[in-house]
Amino acid sequence: MDFSFSKEQKMMSKEMKHFCKKELNDEYVQWMDENVDFPPDELWQKFIDIGFFKAALPEEYGGDALGYFDQMILYEEICKASMSVALAVGTTTGFGTRFIDEMGTVEQKEKYLPLIGDGKLKTCMALTEPTGGTDILGALSTTAEEKDDRWIINGEKVFITASHASDYMITICKTETDAKPSKSLSVFLVPSNSKGITITRIPKISCHHCDSPGITFSNVEIPHENLLGTKGNGWYEMLAILNPERISCAMMGVGLMAAAYEDAFDYAKQRQAFGGPISRFQILQHYLADMYINLENSRNLTFKSAWLCDQGKPYHLESTMAKLVASEGALHAGKFGAEILGGYGICSEYPMQRYLRDAYQLQFSPISNEMSKNMMMQFQGFPKSWS
Ligand SMILES: Cc1cc2nc3c(=O)[nH]c(=O)nc-3n(C[C@H](O)[C@H](O)[C@H](O)COP(=O)(O)OP(=O)(O)OC[C@H]3O[C@@H](n4cnc5c(N)ncnc54)[C@H](O)[C@@H]3O)c2cc1C
Repeated sequence: MDFSFSKEQKMMSKEMKHFCKKELNDEYVQWMDENVDFPPDELWQKFIDIGFFKAALPEEYGGDALGYFDQMILYEEICKASMSVALAVGTTTGFGTRFIDEMGTVEQKEKYLPLIGDGKLKTCMALTEPTGGTDILGALSTTAEEKDDRWIINGEKVFITASHASDYMITICKTETDAKPSKSLSVFLVPSNSKGITITRIPKISCHHCDSPGITFSNVEIPHENLLGTKGNGWYEMLAILNPERISCAMMGVGLMAAAYEDAFDYAKQRQAFGGPISRFQILQHYLADMYINLENSRNLTFKSAWLCDQGKPYHLESTMAKLVASEGALHAGKFGAEILGGYGICSEYPMQRYLRDAYQLQFSPISNEMSKNMMMQFQGFPKSWS
């Protein structure tokens, strides 16, 4: 197995690193974290200018048709600079592009994909409901009722990242009342400006410049043609699309860890105590050594998952492990990075506090680490430990 970077991939990574250094420097990211709930339009435009939203689109819709491995090369640098920005662009490239490309009709693809590629259409994915995100099949009660040439949607969603900034909400609803839960769901493209939608901010400690609000749908009417995929088969179609999301979320942890490690490493070299740099203290070296091992392990597993996904080979075990070790590693890096910075570890002046706060979000989103372990052992052939 060889998943080392080719010459072109090294160039891609270098250019993205350069872009992020210039457009997502620490001061600007800190400003966003304190002042906005979504990346400003001028930053979005810069992503448009480098063709970022075209990267994963199929060629027939004006895209570059990059595979998952290449997409992760670009994503790594964004995740390292700002997990909020990675989430903000990811809800459109990861959800919008993939749901429409994989589930859409030719008409839907022709209508929406070029707009996504041009950065003119933002999406979010509304699955989770207030009564439970892990047992989503048991909890999901938002309904879509067919009435003449419309669907009427009623219900409530929570923690929907970028919903306040999206043009379309990819919304999962119950359409079959008599079928078993896994055969009862359908996916819809809901225009965010539809009458009857209320968006409510949910204040949180993590990812301040990409909010995850709640949404209420009250008799929201959408056109009949906004059904995405097959009525009643939404659960299975959606799972196939959401599985690679774990790879992107693992990359967020990798990015956070890399940033925390580098900042802590540099700080340890320059900070003086007892007549020399604190980097000479063995315990701080051990903190850094653990961070480095976690980073290397998670990065390898994440790229391996992306590589397997591109090869059309099974990757669910690897991507689940990658999400788990990367999120735990990111939390560890934020905590011990903050230890190394002493009091400055919790000050706004340094990004370390942001790494620590943002890392929390990865512990349970998009799937909790407890559930990840349940699934890993099920993949290994053990009896399903939950129901
Ligand atoms: C900031 C943020 C952004 C998000 N973005 C989105 C989004 O864009 N779209 C979207 O649809 N959703 C989104 N989510 C929702 C996310 O996917 C859920 O939070 C997640 O699935 C967990 O669900 P829950 O929070 O309801 O926790 P619960 O399901 O209530 O779980 C609570 C605890 O119980 C544990 N638990 C539950 N069942 C089991 C079991 N069988 N075995 C062991 N432990 C178990 C969990 O691991 C967890 O520790 C987001 C969440 C957050 C916080």
